[in-house]
Amino acid sequence: MSINDKQRIVIKVGSALIAPEGKGCSTKYLSNIADFISSCRQRGQQVILVSSGSVAAGKQWFDNPTVTKGVKKAMASVGQTEMMAIWGKLLGDPLAQILLTHADLCNRERYVSIKETIESLLANGMIPVINENDTVTSEEVKVGDNDNLAAMAASAVDADVLIMCTDVNGLYDRNPTTNPDAKLFSVVTEISPELYDMAGGVTSAVGTGGMLTKIEAAEKSTAHGIDTYIINGFQQESFSKLLQGLNPGTHFLPHEAPLAPSVHWMTHTVRERGEVIIDDENQDFAESDEFLTTDNILEVKGQFGVGDTVVVSTDDGTRVAKAKVNYSSCLLNYIAQEQSDEDDADYNQPQNRPIISKEHIAVLENE
Ligand code: GLU
Repeated sequence: MSINDKQRIVIKVGSALIAPEGKGCSTKYLSNIADFISSCRQRGQQVILVSSGSVAAGKQWFDNPTVTKGVKKAMASVGQTEMMAIWGKLLGDPLAQILLTHADLCNRERYVSIKETIESLLANGMIPVINENDTVTSEEVKVGDNDNLAAMAASAVDADVLIMCTDVNGLYDRNPTTNPDAKLFSVVTEISPELYDMAGGVTSAVGTGGMLTKIEAAEKSTAHGIDTYIINGFQQESFSKLLQGLNPGTHFLPHEAPLAPSVHWMTHTVRERGEVIIDDENQDFAESDEFLTTDNILEVKGQFGVGDTVVVSTDDGTRVAKAKVNYSSCLLNYIAQEQSDEDDADYNQPQNRPIISKEHIAVLENE
């Protein structure tokens, strides 16, 4: 139950703590967090900081009445340096800025490169500071919130602990700001659909995350075997309790049998671009010596290219696996349509090439 005997800690700090007024950075709450990070490092633990706040920090320099996507990116660009400067001042140690997009984390080579860079920074005593690269993101390539980004980063570097700081004491059964009787969950052993329902709609006024994204993040990190906490980052007491080995908020227990790292990456980081629906009879293909061929397809959904990730499902809706595909959706659609046309059996289809490669496949467990 304690973080004291853990080696590698990822701490996620949201915009509301960095720029509490939504305009420019403030040390008001960050001093406590910086002291916590320094205490962990002094006792030999490694810390990776996932810091939001670039947009909120950059806002003060703009007087545009309408905040378009372009203006927001410009705010992020100017705010990022301010946010790094304030952490630099408070932490005193050399900081290493790492700006990522979802596209970076989904590409295996870039993913390994990120992992190697962070390993090397930690081995040399530095503090990696991660944020989304808001300036270059689009809907297609962004993670969109730093809770999920922190969980992906924590999984990439095999962290032992993920701490998400927020403005309430943890996860409640109802919104605690409007329900004084709301009950705090101090330990969560399983992330169920009911838990998602309870968290729905609780969002922050300053950042993009809320309880929903924190639960998504906890689902990712606990499946990697990471002890995950939601704590109140506004209260110094949260950090002193953590340092004493206590749980100041909600502790999500890690899975006893975490997913293998490559399966975890495919399941929880890589986003699917489409769906290939196969016959029920073939649903064990991933665990057998059989390859899926174009003969096994019933339907193709979405638009994807060669090398993209798709979900393979059966026609009753069971999601069987996530995998990299060897055909484009265009070609698979054409083949599936031709196969369903009994009068036209004489076309030239590349039947012998497997639809997906066995080395890039994650079997999905009862989603
Ligand atoms: N990347 C955004 C920023 O630095 C924050 C995203 C979030 O709030 O989760 O402003």
